[in-house]
Amino acid sequence: MKNLIKNFLIFFIVFLAIAALFSAFGGGAPKEEKVGIEMLISQINNGEVGSIVIEGDELKVALTSGESETVKKETGETLSELLNNFGVEKEKLANIKIEVKDESGLDFWLTSILPFLLPFLLIGFFIYFMMRGVQGANTRAMMFGQSQAKEFSKDTKDKTTFKDVAGVKEAKEELKEVVEFLKQPKKFLELGARIPRGVLLLGSPGTGKTLLARATAGEAEVPFFSISGSEFVEMFVGVGASRVRDLFKKAKKNAPCIIFIDEIDAVGRKRGAGLGGSHDEREQTLNQILVEMDGFEPNTNVIVMAATNRPDVLDIALLRPGRFDRRITLDEPDIADREAILKVHARKKPLAKEVSLRRIAERTPGFSGADLSNLLNEAAILAARRNKKIIEMDELFESIERVMLGPERRSRILTEREKKITAYHEAGHALVAHYSPRIDPVQKISIIARGQAGGYTIKLPIADKHMYTKQEFIEEIAVLLAGYMAEEEVFNEITTGATSDLRRATGLARKLITDYGMSETLGPRTFGEKEEMIFLGREIHEQRDYSEKIAEKIDTEISAFIDQASHKAKGIIKEQRKDLEKIVKALLEKETLERDEFEKIVGAKKINN
Ligand code: ADP
Ligand code: MG
Ligand code: ZN
Repeated sequence: MKNLIKNFLIFFIVFLAIAALFSAFGGGAPKEEKVGIEMLISQINNGEVGSIVIEGDELKVALTSGESETVKKETGETLSELLNNFGVEKEKLANIKIEVKDESGLDFWLTSILPFLLPFLLIGFFIYFMMRGVQGANTRAMMFGQSQAKEFSKDTKDKTTFKDVAGVKEAKEELKEVVEFLKQPKKFLELGARIPRGVLLLGSPGTGKTLLARATAGEAEVPFFSISGSEFVEMFVGVGASRVRDLFKKAKKNAPCIIFIDEIDAVGRKRGAGLGGSHDEREQTLNQILVEMDGFEPNTNVIVMAATNRPDVLDIALLRPGRFDRRITLDEPDIADREAILKVHARKKPLAKEVSLRRIAERTPGFSGADLSNLLNEAAILAARRNKKIIEMDELFESIERVMLGPERRSRILTEREKKITAYHEAGHALVAHYSPRIDPVQKISIIARGQAGGYTIKLPIADKHMYTKQEFIEEIAVLLAGYMAEEEVFNEITTGATSDLRRATGLARKLITDYGMSETLGPRTFGEKEEMIFLGREIHEQRDYSEKIAEKIDTEISAFIDQASHKAKGIIKEQRKDLEKIVKALLEKETLERDEFEKIVGAKKINN
């Protein structure tokens, strides 16, 4: 549209210029006296005329006196006829030089045709330009169906390899297998092994999913077709699907190669969930991906990689065997990983000798790989602004704050005190979990912030459980409350860090009573009619089917359960205070404790379920 207006303006100006030129022409023409035909006749009869030049309908008359004049005659009438009609004397005419001149081409055009033609020309140009614009849009529309995959050829010089990816050891191990498949498919096919089709990379933003996918292609030395899930979602239904088709066609031609679908959750969300009609397009695109993946010949050496930070929203059809059945999780980097990532990104930056990347790693819990690379970049910019030739510790420390407080802030830095409180909080969870015989063993403790929580404790389920006992629930609530209890026991103070724990504990206690009938006073019945309404996400609407009196009783019972559980938690924390201190010390040092490190401190878990 802007272009159109611009073109129009240009034409308008050109038009004005031409018009101005014309008027200048007209004005600039030599001044000649215009006379009537009778005047000419009398001049001829008086012998005052020297010569006449006939130009079309105009007679240019040169008088013997040296003056000149112009006479108009009727069109079609010749001069001799005219003069005859007026009865000019023959002998007078003989003295006059008469010359017939063709009207000059240019003059003719300029004066008679161009003024007519010009508007048409302008309109023609205008239409032409408009058409060209539309045509451009058309060709773009035609290109819609083609995938816009960016292809990275295998022989680029500075290709990414596993060396450029620090940390994420398990993920790299898994991907090495993929590299082997791509490099020597025969080895596997001869043994009857099926080449993996799809590899799904899971991890929070900035953990290096995209980087790792590219590194895999670089290691295997194969082409890499990269497209982002959001690029599939266009305004026209069917475009995404045809792009998928095109992408896979291209890939098959270039096999062995890797197709990488970044942010696959943009198309791969659960189908049929939510409102609105825009899902048609996504569904078609998703279906096409599934169809293409199923349609591979068993020995097609194309591996589809995809990345997402929302595995919870993915359609289960994507996760079925034969599709993205390999799932690789990229953890957030712990202190050692962070140091390694910093090292990778410091390779091409001149660092001062006294710089200790370890110390930077210590002060950046919760930073993702992207944050760390950003940190080093900021430090380099700072150093340059300070006219330094090398980056020093000062710039690095200052950059931590820059990255943290900048718009990119996804992570939070804990002060020493906050770190300590978090350590006690998490150690409390882990300790109580460890000494609760019905709870799964602790797999990992971390004081790296994640989501809303300052840290986390993961328990490892030994087996899939389909049934829970009341005692298990009470222990579960005790574990949930343990963070709070540890803070209270040690600091005699409560922080805001336990909010979500408390909410979950209370919710669980309520469920015990209202859903599972586990309260002795209220008996075996449920309370509240549940109605699940899915609207813009998930919302549960509950209808009360009990009296105020019962509601009061439920509240009392919830408090009773909570009391019971918190006593349990507090008891364990008091009894095992020594272990608690040891766990805290280890956590402050390493930030994350794996199961074996944890059990070295507290001994092996006694399980009783
Ligand atoms: P994601 O796709 O998981 O959101 P990216 O792969 O785009 O994250 O990572 C962004 C940038 O962060 C990378 O280009 C790289 O510079 C840096 N980065 C992230 N993780 C790592 C890592 N493990 N090792 C080295 N650099 C990393
Ligand atoms: Mg990415
Ligand atoms: Zn907690």
